[in-house]
Amino acid sequence: MKNALHEFADLAINIPVDRLFTYGIPADTAKKAEVGKRAFVDFRNKETVGYIVGFRPEAEAQGIKEIRSVIDDEPVISGELLKLTERVSLTYLCSYGQAIAAAIPGVLKKGKVSVKSREKHEEEKMPAPSYPLALTDEQKKVLESVFKKIDMESYRPFLLHGITASGKTEIYLQAIEKVLNKGKTSIVLVPEIALTPQTVERFTSRFGSKVAVAHSALVGSMRYKEWQRIRSGEAKIVVGARSAIFSPVRNLGLIIIDEEHETSYKQEDVPRYHARDVALMRAKLANCPVILGSATPSLESFYLAKKGELEMVKLTKRIDERSLPKTKVVDMRMELATRKKVCMFSKVLVDSIERVLKDGRQVMIFLNRRGFSTYVNCKRCGLVLKCKKCDSVMVYHYETRNLICHYCNFRMPPPDICPKCNAAYMKYFGIGTEKVESEIARLFPQARIARMDTDATAKRGSHDRILGEFKKHNIDILVGTQMIAKGLDFPRVTLVGVVNADVTLNLPDFRASERTFNLLTQVAGRAGRGEDGGEVIIQTYAPEHYAILAASKHDYEKFYAQEIKSRKELFFPPFVHLIKLTLRSRNEKSASDAAGSLKEFLEKNLFNTEKEKSVDKIDIAGPAPSPIARVRGFFRWNVLLKGRNRTTMCETLRGALRSYRKPAGVILTIDVDPMSM
Ligand code: ADP
Ligand code: ZN
Repeated sequence: MKNALHEFADLAINIPVDRLFTYGIPADTAKKAEVGKRAFVDFRNKETVGYIVGFRPEAEAQGIKEIRSVIDDEPVISGELLKLTERVSLTYLCSYGQAIAAAIPGVLKKGKVSVKSREKHEEEKMPAPSYPLALTDEQKKVLESVFKKIDMESYRPFLLHGITASGKTEIYLQAIEKVLNKGKTSIVLVPEIALTPQTVERFTSRFGSKVAVAHSALVGSMRYKEWQRIRSGEAKIVVGARSAIFSPVRNLGLIIIDEEHETSYKQEDVPRYHARDVALMRAKLANCPVILGSATPSLESFYLAKKGELEMVKLTKRIDERSLPKTKVVDMRMELATRKKVCMFSKVLVDSIERVLKDGRQVMIFLNRRGFSTYVNCKRCGLVLKCKKCDSVMVYHYETRNLICHYCNFRMPPPDICPKCNAAYMKYFGIGTEKVESEIARLFPQARIARMDTDATAKRGSHDRILGEFKKHNIDILVGTQMIAKGLDFPRVTLVGVVNADVTLNLPDFRASERTFNLLTQVAGRAGRGEDGGEVIIQTYAPEHYAILAASKHDYEKFYAQEIKSRKELFFPPFVHLIKLTLRSRNEKSASDAAGSLKEFLEKNLFNTEKEKSVDKIDIAGPAPSPIARVRGFFRWNVLLKGRNRTTMCETLRGALRSYRKPAGVILTIDVDPMSM
């Protein structure tokens, strides 16, 4: 859209102010000014990058400044993405400028590079090519449904519920091929590139240089190159983590979201979007199908599928009809009673490890808690060492000989004497992955052992190195956190042991059961992917909990039936949408007072008319402190909104907040569909 007739441009700016800014267009740049391009403008006496989103023939305000210069020869953001980011800003209550900034590479936000039509780049190394497999009957049926919708070229969301190793990825690959043959493009979202190297490789080996990998570990310039490859149409398939949903592909024909239940699809900073929901928005704009795939769908998606808003397609069998691993739940309370002391491994687990090692197979041991011990406690006065800045306990890390806060990374040497009573009785309690590793090493001195968690993989490349060694069977036992739960396919792993399934179950979060079920199912899915079958041993102090029972039987439907009942009773998602408003301050009273007055304000202002009230009731809960009430020195208080219709809820809140004046020294953040409290 050129601006021949217009004198003024509306610009979105990447700041948390919910409005556009109007600037005059100097005559000599009139031709160059175009929607979707960046421009330098004077903003609060600073040269700032703005995004041109529209034009107007006149401006009301006096003393309007002029654009300094238009940066780009071509728009950095397409009309489709402008619509998408506008919807993102409306849904997640951020400014349009913040949403646009999330959709373009970092280097462009600073206004440095000018976008040219085309730039050359070097070829990258590619893995050996792979070819389409002959499909199983189940796979055929699923693909038929998907193909039909691809041919219709209209919006259609699918939920592909397929157990682990049922061949979901092959479905994705052949659906993409179909789209490719129509001359269209695809976007594939994976939870975290670094954690799913095998998945990513399957796309590059099938489609070669047509694939662009939007890798968060890529340095700025490489990222920018991939972005240009996508933008120019050279790359037809984008595989990437959540931000890849904003890839500048044209002629989009399909979106795939692998492991759609993963919480990493939710961005924790502004804009706090959920890539799954943005994918649905984008597919609607592009008129194309979208496939959400998972062995353990999110409650939200499964609920929508049951209501018919997503088309459910299923893969119920593993490839080659390989059976799911046999799962044993070990009641650690009984272990405690018979052995008279807390032990890390049950006899069943130790015996199984021994047997599997003797058979020359591999073992994975899972505990979703890093560190050595999990808290330090004075035996005399009872003091538990806490972080100076957070409401969290200090965790002992053996490798670095440090106590570390897992919320703010504050470190300190472990004290020999109690800082409160000076007694020399500091004791270490609880189990983390480091301790599991050392105990395994003690029990199985001949075994080759490695650990994989964020500590062990902090160094660049160590993640791939450990997985590579495990694949080559230079490692017998791999100990790890949720890093080893996802997407890994090692046929020689015949035993998966879960040291303590209750770690996630006890989190103060309404999704705790769902997380536990997902993690256990995923980690169990690592066993028995080869021809030798597999076995899973889950240790727990809550063996009768439905999340653990259902996971041990690989029974998603059963878990869903239980969980959905409790969500309904408690009035939680998927029955409502949540909006979490957090007020934080270094002063505890300021934070709680501000939360209290925000609640009062919302009660008065959220609805203007009685009619609105009756149409869409919004519940206002709180104020209440966050489960971790203080982090990095900030006290945090929440007000929680619950309502059935997200669109009206966001609209109403946005309107109300226009007249809200927050007290000084307090920061307000808004999280729509929050993943944690
Ligand atoms: P999922 O994505 O559901 O976990 P995968 O797509 O990884 O499952 O499939 C599991 C294994 O089965 C992979 O090694 C894959 O190559 C193989 N596989 C998938 N589909 C077929 C098929 N139709 N015939 C033979 N092997 C297949
Ligand atoms: Zn801390």
